[in-house]
Amino acid sequence: MADFGATDVELENFRAEARAWLEANFPPELKGKAGQASEQDEGGEISPELALWRKRIGEKGWAVPTWPTEYGGGGLTPQQARVLQQEMARVGAFNPLMFGMGITMIGPTILDYGTEEQKRTHIPRIARGEVRWCVGYSEPNAGSDLASLQTRCEDMGDHYLINGQKIWTSGAQWSDWCGMLVRTDFSAKKHDGISFLLVDMHQPGIETRPIKLIAGASPFCETFFTDARAEKNGLLGELNRGWTVGKRLLQHERASQTAASGPGGGRQAPLTDLAKRYVGVDEKGRIADPDLRTRLARHEMDSRAHSLTLMRAFAESRGAGGATNTASVLKNSATNVAQTRAELTLEIMGHQGLGWEGEAFSADELQAVRGWLFGKAMSIYGGSAEIQNNIISKRILGLPDTTQST
Ligand SMILES: Cc1cc2nc3c(=O)[nH]c(=O)nc-3n(C[C@H](O)[C@H](O)[C@H](O)COP(=O)(O)OP(=O)(O)OC[C@H]3O[C@@H](n4cnc5c(N)ncnc54)[C@H](O)[C@@H]3O)c2cc1C
Repeated sequence: MADFGATDVELENFRAEARAWLEANFPPELKGKAGQASEQDEGGEISPELALWRKRIGEKGWAVPTWPTEYGGGGLTPQQARVLQQEMARVGAFNPLMFGMGITMIGPTILDYGTEEQKRTHIPRIARGEVRWCVGYSEPNAGSDLASLQTRCEDMGDHYLINGQKIWTSGAQWSDWCGMLVRTDFSAKKHDGISFLLVDMHQPGIETRPIKLIAGASPFCETFFTDARAEKNGLLGELNRGWTVGKRLLQHERASQTAASGPGGGRQAPLTDLAKRYVGVDEKGRIADPDLRTRLARHEMDSRAHSLTLMRAFAESRGAGGATNTASVLKNSATNVAQTRAELTLEIMGHQGLGWEGEAFSADELQAVRGWLFGKAMSIYGGSAEIQNNIISKRILGLPDTTQST
């Protein structure tokens, strides 16, 4: 990876390089269409332009700009990655692979704990967006208390045998691989008998049953393992030490959930513009409803404070090994900002923001109600808001340990 200490001149040279590359490679038809990235990740059809953009950015390594070049990453410094992000925003470009669990969680965890063979096998394919990953943690009786998981894994000599059930496994129905926690020692204390496995999803012993969400889609599954097989080289980290690896993945997950853009992925119109359009303006050109105006101003301040704190945390963590427990603070704050935004959007739209289908509603209005409903999930996935508060009190504030959860 490149050195952290790039000068201003070097950064400006890199800006010129990024600008020229984007001009030559980003398909202009995709300008401002970041929504297409998530559709693809949810198993939808993709346009030829998006396929081309995925291929080009994947080959360049800029979908994972700070990952090492030897594993297919961009090898950029955090500052260069930020410049790249700014240049992408300038031309309405987006990272088409940004929502994949391979990029946000599994890849960084393999980089932290993987063997050289695991890195060479998995990281380049994740960097190029060639494989989809899911994360198999939660079970019907192990959510917040994840360490109670019961999925059984036996050592069969030349491979591992897996039996049990996971639930809420996002994207399991269209994933190629699963990074999962299994119990490898039933006699040890619950945190000590767990291992982390990389499992090929394309095998008869794995069955996925999609669950429908209140917002309409079926983004996650019940996942059943019946004599499923994992190779010996699929063990990530040490046997029975999977809890440490598993916690690391959760930090990466939470770090990826701190953007506060919410279900709309940051592509919504500014709320003040929306309010002026739906609610109208007074004689001074301000949003007509003073109470709404005050609450929008408060929301904008919270949103700005969150973004600045995020940037400060990012700058302070440079070189400190990436994701930390700070991610719990930022995840909760991102959730608050995004959920408030979704509430305000519906309020501004009035009854137009309550439609489920039909020609009386615009696409943005239909999306607003789905976004509001999906936004409820933000304070649950990646560990609930209460669990983040427990982590903050225990691991950051050093308050007495009153819980056994993650
Ligand atoms: C959209 C979505 C996607 C998901 N994707 C995945 C995925 O890909 N892979 C995966 O493995 N899981 C996934 N999950 C599952 C998610 O991680 C769990 O739902 C979450 O950890 C909570 O567990 P639970 O649902 O079992 O709730 P429970 O643990 O039963 O919690 C119920 C309530 O009790 C509260 N609570 C529990 N324990 C405590 C405590 N000690 N202190 C204070 N309050 C507590 C919780 O905050 C919550 O409000 C997903 C969930 C959602 C909603």
